[in-house]
Amino acid sequence: MDYDTYGSSAVELAIDLANADRDAGPEWASAFLRAHDEWFEPGTDLDLSPDEVGQAGATADRVRAVAVAQSEAEVMERLNALLALAHPQPYATDHDGELHLHYARPDAPLLEQLTTTVAMGLSQVVVQHGWQRIGVCSAEGCDDVYVDTSRNASRRYCSNTCASRSTVAAYRARRRT
Ligand SMILES: [Zn+2]
Ligand SMILES: [Zn+2]
Repeated sequence: MDYDTYGSSAVELAIDLANADRDAGPEWASAFLRAHDEWFEPGTDLDLSPDEVGQAGATADRVRAVAVAQSEAEVMERLNALLALAHPQPYATDHDGELHLHYARPDAPLLEQLTTTVAMGLSQVVVQHGWQRIGVCSAEGCDDVYVDTSRNASRRYCSNTCASRSTVAAYRARRRT
């Protein structure tokens, strides 16, 4: 998905965190963090204590809570709960060859970098583009969170796969009646 149109690719980290499969047990966290290590200052220790894994899961739940919120007031309240955990100290970096912002101080512990980046990425999209832009997939059997980057904010599914699966299901349902 083209998150760049949103001026913040950090929202991608928030969405991926909310969608991370935590059923496998506490190892989910190190797998997730290693797959997204471009968001953390090079050299950051990518291991969390069991307590910190729990907090990372709670942050994932907070992102999801924003996605399922039904009103601007609800989104604001949940976003502010998330932002209260953030310790932003933005700085510009080109460590990957492209100039961009990081949101937490470079020597912050991993959990702080994660929470801060997620909170800042998510809130930038909501504040700049509207509270309805973060949603949960409408397809049966899928509850993935997504960012709606469509021009008219009409998106209902996390992916093209879910969208076409639902179209086929609706077509079959119509044929049955
Ligand atoms: Zn970076
Ligand atoms: Zn889906």
